Amino acid sequence: MSTTADTTQTQKELWDKALATMPGGLSHPNRRKADDPIFISHGKGSRMWDVEGNEYIDYSMGSASLLLGHAHPDVVKAIQEQAPLGTYTASCHALEVEWAGLIQELIPSAERVRFVASGSEATALAARVARAYTGKTKIIRFQNHYNGWSDLTITGSETPYDVAPGHGVVPGAAETMVVLPTDPAVVEETLKADPEIAGIILEASGANWGSVPLPEGFLQDLRDLSDKYSVVLIFDEVITGFRWSPGGAQGLMGIVPDMTCMAKIVTGGNPGGALGGKADIMEVLNPRTTTHADRKVIHKGTFNGAPAVAAPAVATLKIVKTGEPHKQANAIAQKIREGIRVILEEHQVAGAAYGEASTYHIHFGDTPSRDSVEGLTPEDVRGIPASTVYAYQQALQDRGINNMSHLGGITSAAHTDEDVELTLKAIEGSIEQLMSDGVIGRS
Ligand code: PMP
Repeated sequence: MSTTADTTQTQKELWDKALATMPGGLSHPNRRKADDPIFISHGKGSRMWDVEGNEYIDYSMGSASLLLGHAHPDVVKAIQEQAPLGTYTASCHALEVEWAGLIQELIPSAERVRFVASGSEATALAARVARAYTGKTKIIRFQNHYNGWSDLTITGSETPYDVAPGHGVVPGAAETMVVLPTDPAVVEETLKADPEIAGIILEASGANWGSVPLPEGFLQDLRDLSDKYSVVLIFDEVITGFRWSPGGAQGLMGIVPDMTCMAKIVTGGNPGGALGGKADIMEVLNPRTTTHADRKVIHKGTFNGAPAVAAPAVATLKIVKTGEPHKQANAIAQKIREGIRVILEEHQVAGAAYGEASTYHIHFGDTPSRDSVEGLTPEDVRGIPASTVYAYQQALQDRGINNMSHLGGITSAAHTDEDVELTLKAIEGSIEQLMSDGVIGRS
């Protein structure tokens, strides 16, 4: 799958410069997926190319932000038309109103929308709004769920769950997060015992874009418990929003939270995000509120709703609204999941392939069946040694496949059956290599 291209710099040269200019050579830890870092020059549809001309079938899709694939013509056109008008003026503008209107139409809980600059800002703001609205201090969140990197949400994303991971997090931040297993009985006990709970936040997919699925009925359990104990239910739909369905996970399942955190597809794969919520709760963000003056939230942000982002966002959501992209993206993911199961079975490798909507995950190890990791803990699923994950990602990369993170991928409406065929060959080759290197074992 390699082509030769005119290049001015090799990846090795770029990597040396990156190491001299950025800590660890990176702007995000997940961007180095293997020993050999790759530098991408451009993407189109389901594919992308590195600066040396090597082609990859991409299953990261802009870290799950590109449901339509790379450089969709409507999205490109929207950016091109907006750029000469000015990328940003720090004023009210028509596109942000259209954008908020589309979100309101698609996401059931988004009676009002506030734009932010990233998914982490959406979740941090959601926590602040929940505290202000209820006058309480703590947020329940779930083991291993990733709800952004801010001090307000990072605790609980990695083991040990009760202390902030890494250094430099504000002392005391961990005490404001109550990290629980995804067990409704434990959630209820906590709500009953602790009157300081303001809200509950979770990844609507289950931890880490669904690699640890939620127990059956859990979203509804949380909806019922939030009503019973008068706390604010927050769905982090940064991944699932506009992907699980045009209305996100809540649209698909008909379970409406009080607030919704959005990023990635909501911006058409551009920097930014949004918080949506019930009008009464979001009123705390109204700078001239008269009804909620005693609990007003201060929230600013230079680039909130910037026109350069609003334009491609509107172009994307107009297509999302049709529901068409989901059909193709979901069908492709399903074919990949099924194909992986066949490979695991034929090679007698212990493991499963699973996932919802346009995602697929692999687990290497003992599982209840070839299509489920039910009953496994977050530590079982995410505890696969980093060396195994790295070896798998390197093997895939060597075969022209870029995965999302850990052992899974994200599909788009631009992926084709030809991509599936090439991808399954690459996955089979990678698994064979890992077996012969003794990295994974037989069932
Ligand atoms: N929540 C979830 C579920 C996410 O997957 C992410 C990012 N991958 C975030 C929040 C944070 O979003 P951002 O990277 O835009 O800050």
